[in-house]
Amino acid sequence: MTSRSLYERAYRRCVFPVVSGRLLGRRTARYLAAAEAAQWWSVDTLARHQLQAIAELCQHAQNNCPWYRAQAEQLGLDARRIDHLDEFRRWPVLNRETVVSAGELMYSDHSGPVTCSATGGSTGIPMAYRFDRDSGQRRAATTYRGYGWASAGLGAKTLSIWGTDFQPASWRRRVRDGMINRLKRQRTLSCFAFDTKSMSDYFGQLQRTRPQIIHAYTNPLYEFARFLRENSLSPPPPRSILVGAERLHGFQRDEIESAFKAPVFETYGSREFLLIGAECDRHEGLHISADTLFLEILDDDGQPTPPGDEGHVVITDLTNRAMPLIRFANGDRAIAARSLCSCGRSLPLLAGIRGRVLDMIQLTDGARLPGEFFPHLMKDYPAIRRFQVRQTDEQTIQIQLVTNPPLDDSDFADLRRRTHERTGSVVEIEWDFVDSIPLTQSGKHQVVIGLDAGHRPVSSPLMEMNR
Ligand SMILES: [Zn+2]
Repeated sequence: MTSRSLYERAYRRCVFPVVSGRLLGRRTARYLAAAEAAQWWSVDTLARHQLQAIAELCQHAQNNCPWYRAQAEQLGLDARRIDHLDEFRRWPVLNRETVVSAGELMYSDHSGPVTCSATGGSTGIPMAYRFDRDSGQRRAATTYRGYGWASAGLGAKTLSIWGTDFQPASWRRRVRDGMINRLKRQRTLSCFAFDTKSMSDYFGQLQRTRPQIIHAYTNPLYEFARFLRENSLSPPPPRSILVGAERLHGFQRDEIESAFKAPVFETYGSREFLLIGAECDRHEGLHISADTLFLEILDDDGQPTPPGDEGHVVITDLTNRAMPLIRFANGDRAIAARSLCSCGRSLPLLAGIRGRVLDMIQLTDGARLPGEFFPHLMKDYPAIRRFQVRQTDEQTIQIQLVTNPPLDDSDFADLRRRTHERTGSVVEIEWDFVDSIPLTQSGKHQVVIGLDAGHRPVSSPLMEMNR
């Protein structure tokens, strides 16, 4: 692993503790030191910590949040009895709709300062959530720790290629963020309108600024990597590349690593929890932030899936007291690894993040076609630059393609045949060749939109931590 530069060491030891701790009154530096120690706990110590934190959280929720109080009464639950995970698993699993309909009843009588935010895309269900100040600092610390596994921790010179914030910020906020980002050595480029011209510009910026870290949405960076290869452009290699917000396929990792000549580290996070998991330098899976989040993988009946099997991601935030999220099914699907990482950290591994539930295509025989079928299919036709699959009803799928050069007839025939093999003969597919495909509101390239379509914008964790 590359050693940290002088600036990174100075930033970590001096600048960050002074600015974050003394000037802003935050405990993030202390929590980061604690989080870095916690990753080396024994498996038993981590399990004891989790169970105790779960019991305390549930007692807090039952005592202070009207919604949990009512649930406990209705279901005969008592948080004081949680001395084993089996008792905890009697607590209900929440989904987005439950949280939205519960509204303010989810909030605790916690009177300290809170940060309010919301998730939800243009067609999704907006979900308001809030977290307390202490939890905000702990989740920032957990995120710094996870990025540190990629040598992308505090003070590393970072270029983000990410969806930019839509809300125009006040001048005060812009000045503040500008100063913080300069100190942190972070710079963000928008992945909106990611066309040939902007990719040429971004290549120029890479040559001039030589970032140590590139932090990007997966799909725009993959497109950028293809652009670099096709134009025989070699940017100065960064130390490492962090990708997130979108599913990373193996062929995308290969293309990105080959173009930038640097290792790719997959991360998994969301606005509600910040960093849920990240790869260490062994790349054996994503270490779960298990000291601050309790993550379960459950089957359709709510039972834990065996390691190696795919299931629903259900998360309990162990630190947030302002709006406890206990057993929250976030709509993602993942696979728990069969073993721990060889690096020695006890934080368990996710073997992979699978398609989001919303990215499934419903077939007429009741089966579901995982959305990841399409990226794997389309990659075999180099002329396809971008695509989007949208299911409009049970028997119709629209597929938009941006091609350059035009797809030749035999390739198109082959593509249609392979698609029909998987979707069945009843489903009608409407093919549409277009000049461009708009990105989602948060700048993501949504490749598959299912019937219950919705998307959740994920703002850059780096921006979230400036709050
Ligand atoms: Zn590891």
